[in-house]
Amino acid sequence: MLVSFIVSADVTDVYGLNILAAQLKKLESHNVKVQCFYIFYDFNKLYPQSVLDDLTHFCKGSDLIGISLLSSAYRNSIHITNHLRKSIDCPIIWGGKHPTIDSDDCIQHADMVVIGEGEDTMLELVDAINSGRSYDQTLGTWIRHKGTVIKNEKRPLEQNLDKYLFPDYSIGNKFVLDTRNMRIRPMKSSDLKQMKNWYPTMITRGCPFRCAFCTNTKDLRKMRSRSIGNVIAEIKEFLNIHPSTKRIFFRDDALTSMPMEFIEELSSELKEINLPFTCSGVMSSTPKFKEKLTLLRNAGFVGVKMGIQSGCERVRREVHTRPESNKTIVWGASVLNSLKFDKINYYMITDNPYESEDELVESIRFTSRLPRPFSLSLFSLNFYPGTALYHRALQDGIIENKEEALQESTMVFKNTYLNKVFLLVRHLELPPKLVDYLTHKERYKNPKFQKKFDRLWRYLFSSSECHRGLEVPKLPLLRMLKRKRGINEFMSHTFGLLNFRWLLWIIMNRSFSFYHRLFITPRVVNNALK
Ligand code: SF4
Repeated sequence: MLVSFIVSADVTDVYGLNILAAQLKKLESHNVKVQCFYIFYDFNKLYPQSVLDDLTHFCKGSDLIGISLLSSAYRNSIHITNHLRKSIDCPIIWGGKHPTIDSDDCIQHADMVVIGEGEDTMLELVDAINSGRSYDQTLGTWIRHKGTVIKNEKRPLEQNLDKYLFPDYSIGNKFVLDTRNMRIRPMKSSDLKQMKNWYPTMITRGCPFRCAFCTNTKDLRKMRSRSIGNVIAEIKEFLNIHPSTKRIFFRDDALTSMPMEFIEELSSELKEINLPFTCSGVMSSTPKFKEKLTLLRNAGFVGVKMGIQSGCERVRREVHTRPESNKTIVWGASVLNSLKFDKINYYMITDNPYESEDELVESIRFTSRLPRPFSLSLFSLNFYPGTALYHRALQDGIIENKEEALQESTMVFKNTYLNKVFLLVRHLELPPKLVDYLTHKERYKNPKFQKKFDRLWRYLFSSSECHRGLEVPKLPLLRMLKRKRGINEFMSHTFGLLNFRWLLWIIMNRSFSFYHRLFITPRVVNNALK
């Protein structure tokens, strides 16, 4: 039996699917073969014909095709499913966060959907298909059958996460998209290069928070954890094969929500690994935040990611349903700053129709007053189907249907003056007073001023667009050396060495950083921690 999995993501981004693929290896002795396609491509674009044709070619002979998807890959998953159906006659099953939260719709497109965590469900389903048994009653699935849908019970959440095999990172039977020619090719060990820079893993599953925009369903909120010994064994196994790995990245949703004793044990065990670690899922409102972060820092954590979402308390509480006050967030940010993490990253959201312009201004000003340095992951709000915010927006007439909700990219922003100021705060450590000036009503409601600002924007970024991919000016010679180009480029760039755009940028960058870190940051941190 051949099972093909397709996912629109890089191999480093799909920890869940890699675990699932590993579980199915248990059936290898029963002649079950698994192949995986990691198609890392723009979420908002449908796959071009060449990719669809290659998928059809490689999936020919499959007995089951699984598509793993987040909400952002919904339209593309319909596109792939319809295309594969034309020439391959086998059931197509959808799984992942989107089918879990929006099963009613997904079962209209797929033959089956997996609801919730898929390891045990897929193992049972594939085993049943392979041995010719009936699989209609498989827990955790909905199955389309002769015009009706069999809605099986959910599978209880597995408590013993140690029972799962470690993720499968072998390169056999794996395929990736070569974006240079938009063709699918077998995976090479060099495709795992990114993973050797930072090996992604997870210690816990679940998140006790209830952010209204998040696709974590209430069933998946319960926190469960692997044993620390199991986590360490996984890391050691990977390091044995790839000893040059530079960093370990824990992709947990809410690591700091784990009890203090757990963090203590984790920290002491991780010291043994002797590598830098980063983690997401750091929340300033969790009990003993400072003590936990101190332990993690001492264990070798160098980077953390924390969700803030909005600098306006009303928006955070009433729209995103996040519990933290501004005071708690500034305190949390000050703790991170005082512990001297190398990489601190905050998530913020803009383009929120439930946030007024004045509230967005509040959010931008709040961000500019957080202790530096940090990097900012700014997202454009997307109403993911099935989430509380999606239903609210539908009811309020902000969106009319799913297609409309899913068309926007979270990395492309509305081309507004305030979004541009927000992006500037992302790129430059602008002094809060300057941000106050730029976001004063007289400026943000003044088209003449905005025109002038736009000219500066176009000059700095060589673009009038407003998205996360904007490149800050770089020294041309360095760029050239990085790209290892030849003499022609060297000649053309030598004369561009004193590029004024770059010079202006570097002066602004250095002087703003110097000012913020010397005068603003220490004041904020001292006030928050006293
Ligand atoms: S904290 Fe993160 S994972 Fe948890 S509900 Fe909020 S957005 Fe989702």
